[in-house]
Amino acid sequence: MLNLVLFGPPGAGKGTQSEKLIEKYALVHLSTGDIFRANIKGETELGKLAKSFMDKGELVPDAVTISMLEDVVNKQVNPKGFIFDGFPRTSAQADALDKFLAGKNWKISAMLALEVNDEELKKRLLLRGKESGRPDDANPEVIQNRINVYNRDTAPLKNYYEAQGKYRGVKGIGTIEEIFNGLCKEIDTLK
Ligand code: AMP
Repeated sequence: MLNLVLFGPPGAGKGTQSEKLIEKYALVHLSTGDIFRANIKGETELGKLAKSFMDKGELVPDAVTISMLEDVVNKQVNPKGFIFDGFPRTSAQADALDKFLAGKNWKISAMLALEVNDEELKKRLLLRGKESGRPDDANPEVIQNRINVYNRDTAPLKNYYEAQGKYRGVKGIGTIEEIFNGLCKEIDTLK
């Protein structure tokens, strides 16, 4: 089983690359951001709660996010593997994920981290804000808060996976194909 954590700051290209990776490796794509957005669209209770945090660029509380993720994983029938995109984002989420997977005799194969500098990120996010229709991409203050939250809560997860020998940095600048090839090269060393 191939279970990948796709890691990187907002705007690093996780969504774009996930789409290509699931096709090549037949994995289940699990983006917590996408699941929250689907709940907002469907006007569920979870969506209402998530929106109140997402609109500010804050993280949705761990307990809610973890149980939502576990529910979606539990629904898959004979998965070949997963791409976790935008999850885990805190140490508590990373711990919970390891324990949850261990309970199924599964584990994370690697964390693939897209490395992109701050200047390029802001450029990409502002462009995405004009095109994606995502309200959290349109407001520079919210973008800045998401980057701050990433640096404070999420970036330290590099150390968590590094300590397990699972961290793989991949250059996140270049054409979509170049970045994809860099990711595939790392994945192919895992098999
Ligand atoms: P994303 O689509 O990954 O950029 O996520 C958009 C927003 O959804 C984030 O800014 C958070 O508010 C929320 N979110 C997504 N994933 C998580 C997570 N793993 N933990 C907490 N909040 C999350």
